[in-house]
Amino acid sequence: MKQFRNNVIRAGLGALYFTGAHYLLRPMFAGVGAIFMLHHVRPHREAEFRPNGHLEIVPDFLRATLAHLRSRGIDIITLDEMHRRLTGGDFSRRFACFTMDDGYRDNRDFALPVMREFDAPFTVYVTSDFAEGTGRLWWIALESVIAKASSIEVSIGDVATRLDASTAAAKQAAFHRLHDWLRSLPDEHDAQREMAALCARHGIDETAISRELCMPWDELKPFAADPLVTIGAHTITHGSLARQAEATARHEMAAGRARIEGMLQRPVVHLAYPYGDRIAAAAREFALARATGYKTAVTTRPGMIFAENAGHLTALPRVSLNGNYQDTRVLPVLTSGTATAIWNGFRRVNAA
Ligand SMILES: [Zn+2]
Repeated sequence: MKQFRNNVIRAGLGALYFTGAHYLLRPMFAGVGAIFMLHHVRPHREAEFRPNGHLEIVPDFLRATLAHLRSRGIDIITLDEMHRRLTGGDFSRRFACFTMDDGYRDNRDFALPVMREFDAPFTVYVTSDFAEGTGRLWWIALESVIAKASSIEVSIGDVATRLDASTAAAKQAAFHRLHDWLRSLPDEHDAQREMAALCARHGIDETAISRELCMPWDELKPFAADPLVTIGAHTITHGSLARQAEATARHEMAAGRARIEGMLQRPVVHLAYPYGDRIAAAAREFALARATGYKTAVTTRPGMIFAENAGHLTALPRVSLNGNYQDTRVLPVLTSGTATAIWNGFRRVNAA
């Protein structure tokens, strides 16, 4: 199903490009700016099985995106400056913000040098448990388990199930099945327990992943001091906030922020909701983010920023720089807003 959706998106982006429809639709849907969403930025890895490939782009694609924005005269600004423009109604120039989720070390090693070439600021949203080295990046743990295994036995809804993982295609199918199952479990602790059991059975050290991929506090300190870098918060444990009790969600937002502020000795006023889709963040979370003092909070809902978003600063949409579509021909389509407008059924603001 995901592959089908990917193909539709790919065909849609291509059609928009080849018909030139994005030029006609630009004035209606380009909005006043966009917040780009990235995760990993690093060189291409040769592997047949890369189920998280949509979460990584190569440095050259980041460079091409920045060059495209500059060529169109779009300002690349900090989230603080975006907040100022939105609340002050200053829309004389279009803007782009760059945001990177989770706090990966490759953001420093590969993204920062490219951002420097353009003197372009960006925000990295840190999950405090990842910086602590105790967090669980279960989607990567799942990839590691399946990459190593030739078959996987799990009990899905009390039914003992054996999933083939002997070929790249079978691994891909197994990943989607298990990924959707784990995200569908009503209690996050159940998902954590299932994932821990899978890792134990297949010899994967789940917490080693955060230490391998994410910047610990002593690396975040100098990184955060770079004039181009803003540090935002991405909760303590990277849980699905909307599924948590209100007190837990509030704690994840408020204590996660306090932890980063304490460790890095700088204010943290911007939040990214983990997963960020409507299952993970909705009206209650948008209100909690305001109540816990965030100036802005971003979702993963696709969309451009419109003047009306000034009234929904803790429910901001983003435009994904998706590793599956690293083709410079999609850039004019992405910045035209047409792709996200189609996704949203041509509604401009979607903050409910
Ligand atoms: Zn995340």
